[in-house]
Amino acid sequence: MKDKICYIWDESLIYQCDRLPAVVGRATMVNDLIVSYSLNKQMKVVRSSPATYEDLRKFHSESYIEYLKSVIEIDDDYMANTQDEEYGIGYDCPPVSNMLELVTVVAGGSVTAAKCLVAGAAEVAINWCGGWHHAQRFGADGFCYVNDIVLAIDTLKTKFPKVLYIDLDVHHGNGVQDAYNLSKSVFTLSFHKFEPGFYPGTGNIDDIGTLTGKGYSCNFPFNAWYSDETIEYVFQNVFSSVWEKFLPDAVVVQCGADALARDPQGGGNLSTRGYCACVATVLDKRKPTLLLGGGGYNHANAARLWTSITALVAGETLDENIPEHSHWTKYGPDYMLPVEPTLTRDTNKKDYLDKCIAVIRDNLQKYVQPSKFQERMLKRRIDAGAQEQNGKDNCDSDDLNSKSIDRVIEDSANLSKTSKKSSKEVANPDVYDFID
Ligand SMILES: [Zn+2]
Repeated sequence: MKDKICYIWDESLIYQCDRLPAVVGRATMVNDLIVSYSLNKQMKVVRSSPATYEDLRKFHSESYIEYLKSVIEIDDDYMANTQDEEYGIGYDCPPVSNMLELVTVVAGGSVTAAKCLVAGAAEVAINWCGGWHHAQRFGADGFCYVNDIVLAIDTLKTKFPKVLYIDLDVHHGNGVQDAYNLSKSVFTLSFHKFEPGFYPGTGNIDDIGTLTGKGYSCNFPFNAWYSDETIEYVFQNVFSSVWEKFLPDAVVVQCGADALARDPQGGGNLSTRGYCACVATVLDKRKPTLLLGGGGYNHANAARLWTSITALVAGETLDENIPEHSHWTKYGPDYMLPVEPTLTRDTNKKDYLDKCIAVIRDNLQKYVQPSKFQERMLKRRIDAGAQEQNGKDNCDSDDLNSKSIDRVIEDSANLSKTSKKSSKEVANPDVYDFID
């Protein structure tokens, strides 16, 4: 499995992600927990490169990037002014020193991950420092300064014509949906809490994209305290319906950890098992998959979740007792890996879930159809499979795809072992550089 997973890492990526005001120090905790379980040895650790100005311009406006460039020194008592507020910098996205550097490094993690998939260097690429789904073209929003997800999807689109974006964060993935609101080539699917006054206030069941993109956005609005049982039931139904109609070539999953029980910003009641069940369903399709982080304001629980998902991808079963390491004391009082749900009652009734699933299926039926080209390709695959298997009922197109992924991985020459080493890199002895 090791050869099929790229784990994006760099000292500067961890350092800059640690500076994000909403999640100070979280990236180090996540990486250290993954390393404490030696999961880094089960993956290709690929060095993250910063995004370029051209990368940022694929989504963000020139004026926002110019503004970011201008923010150099921020004192502790700095008060945001009207120009800052024009770019969304203020209350939930406070200004930070050297803002452009922070943004290019954080965005670069997800762009590097997408490049690994494009080059065929991996079947699954992981960047827990990414997933900033609220950032908008003209500015920051909801703790997010740069929309690394949109930049990664744009990179994926250079090879994969249709990309499915799945958002498991407790908040609606509005920034990504807005970016592809008119698009038929990126389908955005978000599962989140939707209640009056809950940020960002969008993502109701009737929010399905507009004009040319109508039907290519799908939102599942949960009531508070949705449980594993609820999300697994809904996810199995909705994901399989979307898959059947949209037939994506690659998948991006934002695994925001704030729908876990006990998240201070959340309102979901998921355990690590609920998230892992959803991610496992996606991985079963064996399409190139990019896994990203996102929200998650109980840092120890976010680290638990993303370590559990990393183990799932690597096919490893981990000891539930967290190994002793530098942040071990933060995992008390139980020092266990799984995050358990609370006893709070799930307010989502089965009737309500079924009604939403029915609306979603109707919309898919009405608006989303495989393109003529895809239908021809699918028919050709099925015909070829029928000949090859001679007597078996049909051909599993996903299985064919997994073979083609293997072939691409063997051919990949975009990764080379790095010779640069620093003291912090001892934990990751085999770091690969991505060569463009
Ligand atoms: Zn969130």
